[in-house]
Amino acid sequence: MAPQNLPVTTLTGIGAQTANRLEKLGIRTLRDLIFHLPHRYEDRTRIYAIGSLTPGMTVLVCGKVEFTDILPRGRKSLVCRISDGTGSMMLRFFHFSANQQQVLKPDTWLSVFAEVRYGFAGLEMVHPDYTVIANRESAPIENRLTPVYPLTEGLSQSVVRKAVKQALACCGQDDAMLADWIPQPILQRYRYPSLAEAIQTLHAPDETVAIDALQNGSVPALKRLAFEELLAHHLSLRRIKHKARIWLAPEFKGSKRQMTDFLDSLPFQLTNAQRRVIAEIESDCRQNHPMMRLVQGDVGSGKTVVAAYSALLAITAGYQVALMAPTELLAEQHYRNFCTWFAGLSIPVMLLTGQTKGKARSAILQTLTDGQAGIVMGTHALFQDSVLFHSLGLVIIDEQHRFGVHQRLALREKAQHSGLRPHQLVMTATPIPRTLAMLNYSDLDISIIDELPPGRKPVVTSVIPAERRADVIDRINNWVGKKRQVYWVCTLIEESETLQCQAAEKTAELLLASLPAVRVGLIHGRLKSTEKDAVMQAFKQHQLDLLVATTVIEVGVDVPNAGLMIIENPERLGLSQLHQLRGRVGRGEGDSYCLLMYQSPLSDTARQRLGILRDSTDGFVIAEKDLQLRGPGDVMGTRQTGQMQFKVADLARDAELLETIQQVSEHFFNECPDAIQPICERWLGASSIYSEV
Ligand code: ADP
Ligand code: MG
Repeated sequence: MAPQNLPVTTLTGIGAQTANRLEKLGIRTLRDLIFHLPHRYEDRTRIYAIGSLTPGMTVLVCGKVEFTDILPRGRKSLVCRISDGTGSMMLRFFHFSANQQQVLKPDTWLSVFAEVRYGFAGLEMVHPDYTVIANRESAPIENRLTPVYPLTEGLSQSVVRKAVKQALACCGQDDAMLADWIPQPILQRYRYPSLAEAIQTLHAPDETVAIDALQNGSVPALKRLAFEELLAHHLSLRRIKHKARIWLAPEFKGSKRQMTDFLDSLPFQLTNAQRRVIAEIESDCRQNHPMMRLVQGDVGSGKTVVAAYSALLAITAGYQVALMAPTELLAEQHYRNFCTWFAGLSIPVMLLTGQTKGKARSAILQTLTDGQAGIVMGTHALFQDSVLFHSLGLVIIDEQHRFGVHQRLALREKAQHSGLRPHQLVMTATPIPRTLAMLNYSDLDISIIDELPPGRKPVVTSVIPAERRADVIDRINNWVGKKRQVYWVCTLIEESETLQCQAAEKTAELLLASLPAVRVGLIHGRLKSTEKDAVMQAFKQHQLDLLVATTVIEVGVDVPNAGLMIIENPERLGLSQLHQLRGRVGRGEGDSYCLLMYQSPLSDTARQRLGILRDSTDGFVIAEKDLQLRGPGDVMGTRQTGQMQFKVADLARDAELLETIQQVSEHFFNECPDAIQPICERWLGASSIYSEV
């Protein structure tokens, strides 16, 4: 076995129990150990004079005990004063053993390490690491910074340090272990150290490395590793795109006539942007290789009809279509839309969600298997093993940002049949900056709908404190008087569905009491699918004036007559999520308003962020600004970053590295394609779905 794949138990001092604990950190092999990097460092390379200390320093000090006492007042503690001739300071212990006072008796020399802070009697250290030494000269000074590793219950720093040291020694004996897959010219161009050097520097930095640079992650050694990791993610996706060129897919050569008939039957004309995107999709699907296309378009830009057109391309060519939406609410809405659009074409449309059970479910499954169903809408329930298609030709994923990269790829696997892979159309309203698209969508071609349907007026957004609730209620009364409808969105910081629903229920009661003339409805995630559907239909048909909702309505919901939205506690949500929510209004021709009703006091950043939303309705501008203000994690939303797990890279810190990834990946595909597999394996693991597909 290659040494890097040897289990950690081959090292001395690592038994089964320690191995189990290491496994909790994802460490199984010597390579895992080597890539388990310190999360901070301690400087024990020099002794500081007590007289030179200031609070906040974390330092090594050497001193002689003046006295040691147990203080009974307040929380019982053991204090010990040491001095080194330049000054004196206290050591304070809240947990101490019976003989500790004896150990720390006057005139004993100690070397201590901890953070210095202000105590009752001047400078002190609380629970320092300490060692009894013979005299000042025998203080244990390290010649390198001391690495501090992420640990888990039962594991100590010293065990991990020793294990890493041994693993590094093994590397020294075997070049293959830290083989550098990044070509020399690239290392030189970006002034990156070799992999072996980088690893060595991070585990055992020598005196040339500044501790600040290590702590804040700006050392080239760390940058290099972060870069390699991000590159590996990008490469693995690009490789999928590359490989897909050899897969076969059905060619959709349906009749042009039916397509134009469909467009003529719509109550509106497509925008130029919609036309362009449709042409791109059509040209993809006429090839016998699978289309893998992402359609990005701001909320309300009209992606659904693009999906319908694409579906029709497949159906008229004799293939089936699966459309996956992130929520049942949205799947149901699509279902209704498609039923209407396809009614005259006698295309059977099905709906399959987690709530479709029993006989109804088996009946629908049957229509999919025997090919009777043309198109099926659903949630991720669509892609369970029990769902089999007769001739699936196109998979459409709406609001893909709500799903992860992995789900998207798994789906592609699942859907293949008789040697043909379905085409894939992915739609998203979350505008992610180009650099981040490198990591999420490099396996896809991208089309952008950069135009809204005509006649839309921007949503007028105001930021107001919750104290003005009474004014808001007046405004609702007026608005409803004008025969328009309203959303009231309740948010909560906890991702707790239950709490969110309770908050919405309570708000609905309050509004019902204070707005007797207004028909109030309530929708949240805990309602049954049929109940949700009933409420949504009632709202759509204007049997309700005000819909109190949780963030379940965040994606997709389309009721053009609703032009006023109140969002409670907007400061708790990400800007992109707020932009999505706000996208529920401003879908018709009339004026529309969004009131961001915050809880005072508002922090400066929160005020700035809500200001961005007030001043812009352009999803791309909002995402870019949010990126500058808060870093990439938030722009992509937690749901998304949750799926992107990095070992070393930190998007908030390393975003600038993404700038060069495209270029370097070009180099890999052209100059050293053999390095792609090992580099992906190193960072994503052999079992990663990225490499299986
Ligand atoms: P999204 O891109 O957010 O999914 P939708 O597909 O839900 O947007 O479309 C928003 C609204 O705009 C819908 O009511 C849809 O019928 C309407 N729409 C779509 N395209 C056009 C168009 N070209 N002209 C006018 N209205 C359109
Ligand atoms: Mg949509």
